[in-house]
Order: sequence, then C-alpha cells, then structure tokens
Amino acid sequence: MIQELGNGGHFAWVKLVFADLSGTARAVQIPEAAFERAMSEGVRVDGSALEGRNRMIETDLVLRPDPTTLLPSGDHAGRVICDLFDDEGRPWPLDPRHALRQMVASTAVVSADWMGAAELEWYLLRPDLSPVDGDGYFSYTRGEGERLLERTALKLGALGLSVTAAHHEAGPGQYEVNLKAATPMLLADSLMTARTVVADMAHEEGLIATFMARPLNDLPGSGMHVHQILAGSNPSEVEHVERVVAGVLDHAGALCAFSAPTINSYRRLHRGAEAPSHATWAHSSRSALVRLSLTDGDHISVEYRGSDSSANPYLVLAALLAAGETGVIGEAKLPAPLEESVEGVGLAQVETAPTQLPRSLEQATIQLLGDDRLIDCFDDRLIARYSEDLMAEVEASQGYVSDWEQRRYLGNF
Ligand code: GLU
Ligand code: MG
Ligand code: MG
Repeated sequence: MIQELGNGGHFAWVKLVFADLSGTARAVQIPEAAFERAMSEGVRVDGSALEGRNRMIETDLVLRPDPTTLLPSGDHAGRVICDLFDDEGRPWPLDPRHALRQMVASTAVVSADWMGAAELEWYLLRPDLSPVDGDGYFSYTRGEGERLLERTALKLGALGLSVTAAHHEAGPGQYEVNLKAATPMLLADSLMTARTVVADMAHEEGLIATFMARPLNDLPGSGMHVHQILAGSNPSEVEHVERVVAGVLDHAGALCAFSAPTINSYRRLHRGAEAPSHATWAHSSRSALVRLSLTDGDHISVEYRGSDSSANPYLVLAALLAAGETGVIGEAKLPAPLEESVEGVGLAQVETAPTQLPRSLEQATIQLLGDDRLIDCFDDRLIARYSEDLMAEVEASQGYVSDWEQRRYLGNF
C-alpha cells in the first residue's frame, strides 16, 4: 500500500494521527520499516497523552492505522489516521472516531445515505495577535493572508480533501474553507486534518491561525457550520427532514456541550454577528440555529450553525446524528420558522417563544447531563469523562481574575 501511494514508492516516515477527546489531532511518527507491523499489530502508546483536557489515564493504548486514510503528506512522508484500542484489543470508549462509528451504526434511520458538508472559519493573526489584514467578506485583494489561503487550499487538495470554496470571511484576517459533502467519518477526519494543515502553514509564515470560537473583542466569531444534505423530493422525505430539524431543536441545549465546548464559545453565541442565540430555524436568517436551503438534485441542506471551530468534529457529527434520530423516531414536530433575528422581533411578538441556547459552558454541560434521550445514544464512559472535562474547565475559569474585571472594579471598590 505504501508503495502504491508513496512519492516514488517510498515514505521514509509515516505520521500516525489520532484525535483526543477534544478533537485535537495528536501524532506519533514511525519509520517506514515499522509501518507494516503497525498495520498488523498496532502501535502501543502511553495513554496519558490521550487524556481529554484534564485527566491522566492509567492504561496503555494501541493505535491501529485506518488504511483508507493513508496519504502522502510531503516529500517522503505519509500520514494515516488511527483508531484507538485498549491493551486487550477493545475499542477505546473515549476515541472520538469510535464514538462516531458507533453512532452511525446505532442511528440507522438518519445515517442511511447521510452526507454532510462543512464550513470552517478561523483567524490569521500576527504574533502580537493583530489580524494579518484589514480586509472583509469576500475580499478580492491579494494580501499575505489571501495568498496563504490559496496555498493552504492547494495543500488540502493535495492531501485528498475536497475543498469546494475558500474565501475571506467578515472579520479582518478571518478566513474560511468549505468542504464537500462526504460520509460522517470522512467529513470529521477532513475537518481535523484541515485544522492541522491551516495551523501548520500559518506557522511556517510566522503567523498564528486560531480556531478558537471568538478570539477578538468587537469582531465576529469563527463558526464550523455543518450541512446535513438530505433527500427532499417527495412529501415523506420532506417530513423526514422536518423531524430531523425538530430533533436538533429539541436537543439544542445539550448539543451545545459538543458544538460550543469552551468557555470562549459563549462569547460567540448570543453576540449576533451571524451566530445563533436561540433554538430557531429559518430559510434565510443567518441568526437561526438551523438554516434550510435547497441544494442541487432535490436535496435539502440542513445547516447547523451552532458549532464553532474549536469543537470536536467527530462528537459534533455524532451528536447531530443522535438528535436527528430521536427526532425521527419520536416524530418530533417542527415549530414555525423565525426569519428575523430573535433580537430584531422581540420575544413578546413570537407566538411560541423559542428556547434560549445555554449562556455558558456550565449551563451547556448541565443541559447535556439532563438530556437522557441524547446521552443514551452515547457510551456512558464517554459522556462521564467528557462532561468532567467540561466542568473542570468551568472551575478553572471561575477562579481566574480577568483583565475586564480588573479594569471594571479595581479603581471603583
Ligand atoms: N462567523 C459566523 C459564525 O460565527 C458565520 C458567518 C457565516 O455565515 O458564514 O458562525
Ligand atoms: Mg462563513
Ligand atoms: Mg454557513
């Protein structure tokens, strides 16, 4: 296989890439001579490197390369994405790829023929954290950032990712790539890979690419919108789509624990700038949580706008599948669309007031733990560890005195 794919039939090194619980790519490099054995027996690694954000784990883990993901990544280098197993050969329950694979298997109704596309936004900053340019949405200029975007899109293509568009986003120094519709695993792998490539290429230029949800005050956040591309050419297909959307709205609070997984995520939500604040859907409004539009070939795109670019793509997709499946199985009812922003119309005028999304990571985690139907779709051990990680993050932030507090209170009290 290496010979088939390698540059001139030869990789000197292969990078074994895997996702930790936060969806961040981790890697071990092995020489080509060790690769055949890695394929047949796996590679043992110290499990403590694979903790979520906060805890050590005791056990050794085994990386098993997924041969369908092997690609050249540079001169004489290849990379392959791995699944994680415990030392007795059982899939490791905290492996996000395993969680997604399990979810696809257990959500037979929504997963059949499921395809999803994604938009990924980030900021390109100088080392002093100022944006690399002062340009805006769809800027045509060819500044440093735009040139880097072109090279980055080329590199993503060379790595086998299907980029359908790349452009400057609304914020200064803010960029976006769009990834073509794919199966859940391919889409999640592509999002993880895209983040590493964007960050690496920025680093090579002495710049910082950040996928944090809202890096700068007074500027838009960075979303990772997910489009579920569902058949919608006859009444029963349309009904299916409506139930999927209703499921997503019903579980919107808990979903935020996956799609808005940091303290900073809540400085993007509820702040306008085309990021949602309530569990609403619409055809045109970019402030809705879910936006429906028609795509080629009689398909309906169900765009979920709740996730930011720091989210774990595997878990976001798993949670969307779970929410959609519960909507379909439970024949969930779709409320009326809300085409204006909630702030614009005023809640008093809306017939049934839509639910507000969580205001903080703490609220999102509590809503996740209270949503039995959604968490029953996941492995208990993943939910336990994942929510512990989020709560540890909440604790860490609550003990921290911010610059804002000092400016606001220090001279006043
Ligand atoms: N940056 C916006 C967000 O945080 C999205 C802008 C857009 O619609 O592409 O979700
Ligand atoms: Mg965008
Ligand atoms: Mg979008």
